[in-house]
This record gives sequence, C-alpha cells and structure tokens, in this order.
Amino acid sequence: MIIIKTPEEIELMRDSALIVSRTLGIVASEIKPGITTLFLDKLAEEFIRDQGAEPGFLGLYDFPNTLCMSPNAQIVHGIPNDTPLNEGDIISVDCGALKNGFYGDHAYTFEVGEVAQETKNLLQITKESLYVGIREFRAGNRVGDVGSAIQNYTEKHGYGVVRELVGHGLGKVMHEDPELPNYGRRGRGKKFKEGMVVAIEPMINMGTQRINQLKDGWTILTADGKPSAHFEHDVAIVNGKPELLSTFKYIYDALGIVSDEEDEFRS
Ligand code: MG
Ligand code: MG
Repeated sequence: MIIIKTPEEIELMRDSALIVSRTLGIVASEIKPGITTLFLDKLAEEFIRDQGAEPGFLGLYDFPNTLCMSPNAQIVHGIPNDTPLNEGDIISVDCGALKNGFYGDHAYTFEVGEVAQETKNLLQITKESLYVGIREFRAGNRVGDVGSAIQNYTEKHGYGVVRELVGHGLGKVMHEDPELPNYGRRGRGKKFKEGMVVAIEPMINMGTQRINQLKDGWTILTADGKPSAHFEHDVAIVNGKPELLSTFKYIYDALGIVSDEEDEFRS
C-alpha cells in the first residue's frame, strides 16, 4: 500500500533527508587515500546522533553499521572495515537517518584521488540517470516511466542495470511501497500521486548486470569484478512535480564542485 504524506510530513522528511545530506558532506570532506571506511562510519554515526537523529541503517535488518560503504566492484550493502582506501578507488556511500519518526536515505559514489576516465564516465552517467529518473516521478506518471528512463539512459552506454535491487517508497518505514526498479516499460506499474515520497537510486555496473553476494550475507558485488556506481535522492511529489528533499550541495561544497543540476527540482 502506498502511503501518501501530508505537506507537514514532507517537511519532517526533508529534515531527515538533509541530515543524511550533511552527513555525506562530512564524509566527502574526509575521503582520501589511506582513510578507512570504519573511520568514516564512526564519524557519520557521531554526527547523526549530534543532530538528535538515529542512524537509519544501524540494526535495520541487523545491519551492523551506520553507513553502507561499497568500494569498486561492490554495488551496495558493503560493511565498513579497517582496510584503507586506495588512490583510484571509487566508494559508494549510502546513509540513512531517522528523526521525528521519518527516514532519510540517500547515497553518492565518491572518487578516491585520481580515478580512471572510464570509471569517471560511469559515475557521471549514473548520476545523470538519477535525474533522468527523477524527472519522470510526477503525478500521473507510473513506476515503469522512471525505470525505463534510467534503463534507456544507461544501457545506451553499454552499462548493466542491476535487477535485484530497487528504489522504494520512503516514510516511517525505510522501504515502503512502491518498489522502483531501475528498468521497466513506459506506462506500466503503479501510478504516481501528489504527496508520494520515494528514494530513487540507480545502481549501474560498468559491465554485466549480473551480481554476486559475499558470504557476509550483505555485500552485493558485480559478477565480473568491474566497478559499479550508486546515486540516490529522496524525492516528493509537490504540486504534481518532483521536488528534491535531499541534496548533494554539502558534498559539492566539500569537493569544490559547482553544479546547478538540482535547480529544476526545487520549488
Ligand atoms: Mg540508500
Ligand atoms: Mg534506498
């Protein structure tokens, strides 16, 4: 069942989303060769608690940490550890926060030092596909419109769209209806309505779409060992149109990036 949010609830959700956005900004300012994902995880947990919020993933389905940290061929659900990041790595960081009874949930894939051009392209196209998908999240459109837009945009670059993991409705529960696959057919699936809030999150592989799971029961990685990228925003339908609740602004401030990519999704 899809749970529609009131304007007041959407504002509470914006608060939760922005705590995640600011947490990712702090992570961005610390990522460099030599740093460990466990160090970043502790930093994130401390910051989230300082905001009067709870880490959204810690303990959720028994996940052991605050951040999902998935380097290189890991797609999602990587567990932070004390292995230092290396020059040329990429690292997908997914973060959740719970405040006032509502979850925020968003993610960004970072470059560690200087990264191969082929990998930079994967990150760029995956991030662009996120906005291509968000553009379709409007009243009257359907689940398949988001999925097909993301699929078409990424597959034309020869990339693999992960099938087993999907975006989702977001609210008082981390994973609400509807599921939002990053593939699909235009005009198919549940219809979008005013007041819906979702997490849209393309997970795109440089090579095959096929995945494996590590024996830790969590980490999902590409079957061919090639890199994978993951970008995620929290989005509400306001006045029929997609409005971003989360932002990459804090990341871009930390990295010295100037971008107007979010402007079209602000009221
Ligand atoms: Mg997430
Ligand atoms: Mg999510």
